[in-house]
Amino acid sequence: MKKTQIITAISVLLINSQLMAQETLIKNVNGYTFINESLTQFSAISFTNDTINKVYLQGEIVDPPIDAIVINGQGKTMLPGLIDAHGHVLGYGHSLLRVDLVNTSSELDAVKRTLSYAQDNPSLKWIQGRGWNQVQWSNNTYPNAESLDKVFPNKPVWLRRVDGHAGWANSKAMALAGITSASKAPIGGEIIKDKSGQPTGVFIDNAMELIIASITQPSPAEDKIALTRAMQSLASLGLTSVHDAGIDQKNIGLYKTLAGEGDMTIRINGMLYLPSINWQQQLEQGPYKSTDEMFVMHSVKIQADGALGSRGASLIHEYSDHSGHKGLLLHENKTLQHYIDVSMNAGFQVNTHAIGDNANKLILDLYQSAIQKSKTKKLRHRIEHAQVLRLEDIPRFYSLNVIASMQATHATSDKNMAVSRLGEERILGAYAWRKLLDNNVVIAAGSDFPVESPNPFYGLHASITRQDHKSFPTGGWYGDEKMSRVEALRSFTIDAAYAGHQEQVIGSLEVGKKADFIILENDIFTMPENKIWQEQVLQTWVAGKMVFSAADVTTTK
Ligand SMILES: [Zn+2]
Repeated sequence: MKKTQIITAISVLLINSQLMAQETLIKNVNGYTFINESLTQFSAISFTNDTINKVYLQGEIVDPPIDAIVINGQGKTMLPGLIDAHGHVLGYGHSLLRVDLVNTSSELDAVKRTLSYAQDNPSLKWIQGRGWNQVQWSNNTYPNAESLDKVFPNKPVWLRRVDGHAGWANSKAMALAGITSASKAPIGGEIIKDKSGQPTGVFIDNAMELIIASITQPSPAEDKIALTRAMQSLASLGLTSVHDAGIDQKNIGLYKTLAGEGDMTIRINGMLYLPSINWQQQLEQGPYKSTDEMFVMHSVKIQADGALGSRGASLIHEYSDHSGHKGLLLHENKTLQHYIDVSMNAGFQVNTHAIGDNANKLILDLYQSAIQKSKTKKLRHRIEHAQVLRLEDIPRFYSLNVIASMQATHATSDKNMAVSRLGEERILGAYAWRKLLDNNVVIAAGSDFPVESPNPFYGLHASITRQDHKSFPTGGWYGDEKMSRVEALRSFTIDAAYAGHQEQVIGSLEVGKKADFIILENDIFTMPENKIWQEQVLQTWVAGKMVFSAADVTTTK
């Protein structure tokens, strides 16, 4: 480039940036944020492009420059944008494009819903769905291929359980996958068989791969639509950032494309899934950050065990409701250790799914030696779920600087099942937010959508009340473990940002940070706590732009 061209390029840049530098002031709000860690109220906020340049504390005179755009907030409540520290965006996006079996009342009800969905979508080669939960059905029994075969004799059907740790296939799907009575489950999986040795149609954990491998995979174009739909939906719920808990090369490529095209509705902090195609190369390329920080990736996701509902969580002692059974570890110890070592040495934060007390203890042990060797304590490695803990393992999170990435709605959804799986003693270390907080452990909140609803107000409500939406049980389920409203908001904002190494950028509304915020009808600090889950978002702003407004929505959510 010649000197004159450079000067022209610079002056064009300057003109552009001057044209683009637009200050916006939103006044007359009931604002809450964390400033230097403490909850602070404010009345107005101004930002230029995507960055906050002033937060007006209560009583401070609001005096915007003449050319600023001024918006009257009409006294509504403003909060920092909420962050879900553990969700599955692509899965959620596809779930928006698939049959939803959440809250089906019986196996037959699930079949009926699937049939009507299939009739509405005749072009689909495979009928896929998600969300059934046999624990909610009166017979409390796994479903069977037969009930699907009656209405789908020729079309393959694959329906995942609500927790994603089991799947239900019809006979056509099993035939396409080559499943017979002779089929054996891979390590870390189980094919449920009847008395005569025939597969019943239910596949647990790693055995699900036997069916999934034969499903025609969605095209990148379909995946891109799913991601976009998901991000728009998440924004409408008040989420401005999500930690995507396990993405592969293809998914990373799509996020980079969307970020490059300026089409990211919300921020994504991705975790590279191990093992996935070319994961070693992804690690070698090092952490990634788009210029506007709409997409970042500097962590990996590893899976240690399964889930409690399907009895796949790895426990030290047998399940209280299944003698001799202790759940499943998904990898051998040396494989886990290898993943952890390689990732830490590449400078990545390691986020491992561990639900059972055995999985949690094992991961803390492996982290302890790996952190020492790699000297990466400052990377704030995480345990995803940290659901069932031995009491003596709780202080280890703090001493290893390990973050507990937890999902409050799991406690209120699991409460019926968890005590029977774990018994009265082990339950004391389960979903133990208060014990973790009292041990100075940072809790990053999430929902694990699409396992649970991504609605962060469900999560805030569950954290604060430990009750379901019918305010049951009175006083909260193991109510000693409740969080305060401030702690719950922290876990969905500044602490979730900290867990994603973004506390300098998002998580609170402070000068120099990104203008990511939401506007609500009610004040979550003064409204009755049993109503918090019903709170509706009026507006969601990301990087200084409004990405959702309830006023635009004609149908009810
Ligand atoms: Zn998950």
